[in-house]
Amino acid sequence: MAGCNHCSREGKLRYDPGVDFALTQTQKTLQSHVLSFAKRELNSDVLSRDRAHEFGRKEWQLCGELGLPGLSIPEAYGGLGLDHLTTAVVLESLAQGCEDTGLVFSLASHLFAGALPIAAWAKEELRQKFLPSMANGSCIGANAITESEAGSDVFSLKCRVRREGDSYVLNGEKTYVTNGPIADVFVVFATTDPRRGFMGVSAFIVERDSPGLRLGEPFDKIGLRTSPTSSLYLDECRIPVDYRLGAEGQGHTIFKQSMLWERSCEFAVYTGAMQRQLERVVEFAKTRSQANKAIGKNQAISHKIVNMSIRLDAARMLLHRACWMLDQNLNADKEVSMAKIAISEAAIESSLDAIQIHGGNGVMTEYQIERFLRDAIPSTITSGTSEIQRNIISQCLGL
Ligand SMILES: Cc1cc2nc3c(=O)[nH]c(=O)nc-3n(C[C@H](O)[C@H](O)[C@H](O)COP(=O)(O)OP(=O)(O)OC[C@H]3O[C@@H](n4cnc5c(N)ncnc54)[C@H](O)[C@@H]3O)c2cc1C
Repeated sequence: MAGCNHCSREGKLRYDPGVDFALTQTQKTLQSHVLSFAKRELNSDVLSRDRAHEFGRKEWQLCGELGLPGLSIPEAYGGLGLDHLTTAVVLESLAQGCEDTGLVFSLASHLFAGALPIAAWAKEELRQKFLPSMANGSCIGANAITESEAGSDVFSLKCRVRREGDSYVLNGEKTYVTNGPIADVFVVFATTDPRRGFMGVSAFIVERDSPGLRLGEPFDKIGLRTSPTSSLYLDECRIPVDYRLGAEGQGHTIFKQSMLWERSCEFAVYTGAMQRQLERVVEFAKTRSQANKAIGKNQAISHKIVNMSIRLDAARMLLHRACWMLDQNLNADKEVSMAKIAISEAAIESSLDAIQIHGGNGVMTEYQIERFLRDAIPSTITSGTSEIQRNIISQCLGL
């Protein structure tokens, strides 16, 4: 009978199972290596760094020694050259082992929004100049598109650029730049003419020491406090013409491409954090007793934990599907947005459950349970809000 796994004789159709959920041996090896590295090396003083809003410079350098800031930078430029799915799997392990979610978020922003647009769109000499040091973390990257009046409406930029001979001159203000206070190199979006909308937008590499570039003070944020964020000011900031990414007017395409990486793989930071959270909650529910009974023996508690587990698995599977589609060069706009919504909304909901399950301990900062919630809250806003992701999905559905 055609279509059956048992009938493989010549001339007969062979049943193809279609979906394969197994990770490769390489992916599993990377996963366990990175997980044990993160648990061993990255978790000292996280609470005090969070309280001090301090970036873990030493921990960043240790990640750099392992090549983690260059996971998906091509091997030719010193990176590991990993595809989307493998990158997500490794980043998830890093975030599972590393209790400093802000550090992993900074690493992901550096990679997806800073390094990868340079890898894809910069001139060869500039790839060689920047990418090897971005791959080992000695050069930190950032991305500056958002402005105070251009957030969700991202291409209504006011930041202007004009060409003068062999230079471009940039003027304007950017805000909410992840890694702003610590970055060495920025991918900056500016317009030749605001009336041209997205058609007028181009992207540029701007080095931190460029004349006319100034950074604001780090913002005081609810969460991701160890991932520093600032404004960036450009005042007659002159850069060489070669520092343009792609062609003039190609900023829209560059942004869309880097967003596919960012909206998918970057959110493995949160599936990793949710895995760590789930393990802590299960352990607590088994060991905390009230009325001579582990609290996890109460259905009200165990069902909450079950729901956390379902949310995590569903979000992770949507992420893996989106990454797999991107690796097959399929259009994954809808699936990437679905994964982003599922992960970020699950991260918030499960963090509320984790606090409730921990009772009073859940509210006290020293137990580091409430931090899951504070770190999760920005996730429905950064890289395009949940509302914008739903707009994208509804467009994909033909609405
Ligand atoms: C932690 C963090 C890190 C960030 N890192 C960076 C970075 O590295 N680089 C960078 O350039 N930017 C960065 N951002 C900026 C981020 O991308 C923007 O905050 C985000 O796109 C939303 O823009 P906004 O804050 O101006 O909100 P607005 O666009 O003003 O939105 C306000 C509210 O209105 C809703 N809304 C707006 N338009 C619509 C619409 N058409 N339909 C339905 N609802 C709508 C939004 O969903 C939101 O709820 C970061 C933000 C955060 C919080």
